[in-house]
Amino acid sequence: MASRWILVRRVLVMIVPVLFIGEASCHRAASQESGRKKGAPVESARSRQPRYSKAGYDITPLSPEQVKALAAKLDPEAYRVTQKSGTEPPFCGTLLDNHKEGVYTCVVCGLPLFSSRNKFNSGTGWPSFDREFDPAHVARHSDTTLGTTRTEITCARCGAHQGHVFDDGPKPTGERHCLNSASLKFVENGQPLPADSQPVKTETAYFAGGCFWGVQHYFTRGPGVLEATSGYAQGHVDHVTYKQVCGGETGHAETVKVVFDPKRITYRRLLEAFFTMHDPTQTNRQGPDWGEQYRSGIWTTGDEQKREAEAFVREQEASKRFGTRKIVTQVEPLGKFWPAEEYHQEYLAKNGAVCHVKDPW
Ligand SMILES: [Zn+2]
Repeated sequence: MASRWILVRRVLVMIVPVLFIGEASCHRAASQESGRKKGAPVESARSRQPRYSKAGYDITPLSPEQVKALAAKLDPEAYRVTQKSGTEPPFCGTLLDNHKEGVYTCVVCGLPLFSSRNKFNSGTGWPSFDREFDPAHVARHSDTTLGTTRTEITCARCGAHQGHVFDDGPKPTGERHCLNSASLKFVENGQPLPADSQPVKTETAYFAGGCFWGVQHYFTRGPGVLEATSGYAQGHVDHVTYKQVCGGETGHAETVKVVFDPKRITYRRLLEAFFTMHDPTQTNRQGPDWGEQYRSGIWTTGDEQKREAEAFVREQEASKRFGTRKIVTQVEPLGKFWPAEEYHQEYLAKNGAVCHVKDPW
């Protein structure tokens, strides 16, 4: 009996918007709109700084002009649902009974929002999922239309209305993401993912500029940097520890691994930031830290990076930017990189410490 009531409640919660406008019909689109206050600028509350999800996707909010251009290509029903916060009638969506394996992407911008792995039959008549493809891909907003408080869900990248999320889903999340088929585009496993539905093609760079705490801190904040990791490189001991490196016998340099989106930030810009952050004219020393592990180095991951780094160093020398002081930065192909212990990662943020490294952004 209890489970039947839960089902009835689920249907009621979602069907209310449809009943409001009278009899629901698959052939007549429901015009009741819900969601954010119309005309409320989604953009104003969202930073345009590049943002990336843990799944490796570019989730930087699109500009209103970009959304407008994409929305112009939608069919009328997808436009109504995604741009006007519409709700499609229950048991009518094309994806309700889709049992194929694959990914459900935003019909507007292509960002993967849900996976077939998390789809379940809620009995409500709308495609339902117990979690997102990546929590950062789906934004939540309080929706007080219809005199009740619901949680609207939208695409985090383009702001397209998707549906609502409720707390009566199955374990372990207990969530039911209630979707409109019209707001989604399904891509079956084995089919090519459109470019907009693919993760970012990243590149990786390595920089040694003295103590890695400050260098990692600022690289992490680079616009177009997905992640920066403190570690040790160019030494001759495997699985090396901080204590061993501090002993000065392993040949390692404290190094920061930088994973970046070359469409958003160039390797050249990272080199410039690196030379702002540290003093490339000091040998085996930065600020208060002395020793070979604090040497200045650029560890390259290919011929192109090597050429670009060497040319950059020559250019900086020719510019006399550092006066008569010679640049001692080593440019070498990367050896092995070992991530540092967890307590060294984002050390400055965790410990509220300050550092002599200059903010290059
Ligand atoms: Zn989208």
